Amino acid sequence: MLDIRLIREEAERVQQIAQQKGIEISIADLLAFDKERRTILQDLEQYRMQRNQLSQSMPQLAKQGKKEEMEQTKEEVRRINVHISSLENSLGEVEANLRNLMLRVPNIISPDTPIGESDADNVELRRVGEVPTFEAPPLDHVTLGEKYDLFDIPRGVKVAGTRNYFLKGIGAYLHRAVQSLALDLLTKRGFTAMDVPLMVREEMFTNTGFFPLGLDQTYALEDQKYLVGTSEVPLISYFSGEVIDVEQPVRLAGVSNCFRSEAGSAGRDVRGLYRVHQFAKVEQVVLCKNDPELSEQMLQEILKNAEDLLHLLELPYRVVAVCTGDIGQGVYKKYDIETWMPSRESYGETQSASNLLEFQARRSNIRYRDENGQLHYCHTLNNTAVATPRILIPLLENHQRPDGTIYIPQALRPYMNGVEEIKPQ
Ligand code: AMP
Repeated sequence: MLDIRLIREEAERVQQIAQQKGIEISIADLLAFDKERRTILQDLEQYRMQRNQLSQSMPQLAKQGKKEEMEQTKEEVRRINVHISSLENSLGEVEANLRNLMLRVPNIISPDTPIGESDADNVELRRVGEVPTFEAPPLDHVTLGEKYDLFDIPRGVKVAGTRNYFLKGIGAYLHRAVQSLALDLLTKRGFTAMDVPLMVREEMFTNTGFFPLGLDQTYALEDQKYLVGTSEVPLISYFSGEVIDVEQPVRLAGVSNCFRSEAGSAGRDVRGLYRVHQFAKVEQVVLCKNDPELSEQMLQEILKNAEDLLHLLELPYRVVAVCTGDIGQGVYKKYDIETWMPSRESYGETQSASNLLEFQARRSNIRYRDENGQLHYCHTLNNTAVATPRILIPLLENHQRPDGTIYIPQALRPYMNGVEEIKPQ
């Protein structure tokens, strides 16, 4: 949510950002509702004041036995009450319309966010690590999975429908190992591990900016609850409505399964484990003071954590600055990390780091007190540490060796139950 004062003062800029982010909204309509609301509130105040004055005059009139004037006053109060109740109805409608539009207003963007329509316009900032070369064409992860019995996609589809899978044996261990490695790294760096609710109330999705625009990406349950697509929703909502202590930034590492309908992705990435309906993620979430320099520093910190994990997994990657068309409604600044995937002959997104400034905290009403006792909305940030099974794609494909084995990076081995490399069955 943006501050309405900012929208009033910079309507043209906000409208332009909405267009750049591909969000349909009329800021002029929003401001018309805002104006109407303020007019109604003023009228209401006037009428309530008049009613109070008239009501207060009645005992005096009664005392003086002025029956006729009493009746006139009563009639006037009745008339005012009719006006008030009609204005209250209008206010309810106008406020609902205003809120609907407010929930669609995009966050502003950082000055260094590239302007563009889609991920094709994201700007590469750096490449890290050597892309491997293979003597024979490398096998893709689906073929490797079958060959080494690491996962079973056909049976996943039989049991749960398209974009589903079973992880098996070493495949299942790898899935857990990357999460354990990520969680241990983050814990050492001051993050608190959090296991979160996966079925969450609708308002928490709205508060964190996922609804209304991302409603079609989620699975609805009964009782106005939805399955989470990321632990960011429960982790930010953990503090909703609270005044919290962010003297030191709050660093959380959420561990969760994530569920996504992938509406609108029909036909995209249908082979293998790239785009599935259920996956697991270790997510970094940070809440800090409302200081752009500090939140930029935190963005770099969580970006580095994700990059360090890729170093530990010995994988080549690149970092891109995400453009306006791909950045999302609530995000002020975003980096994607894309890891080299030999079967795609390209880098594929594996992590996303975002700074949302006070967008989520304003919607979720999460504040802190400064040294003068003044309340401010926090800044919030998030970044994937690791998402699996997507990360298994580069892990298996980059580390396949000419002798038919697959190398397991040293950092993962303590979590692999004694398995040091993957061999044909
Ligand atoms: P996001 O929370 O959308 O920024 O996604 C974070 C990471 O989760 C992505 O970079 C991917 O690694 C992973 N991810 C997102 N959606 C899917 C999906 N449908 N299937 C598998 N992995 C996904």
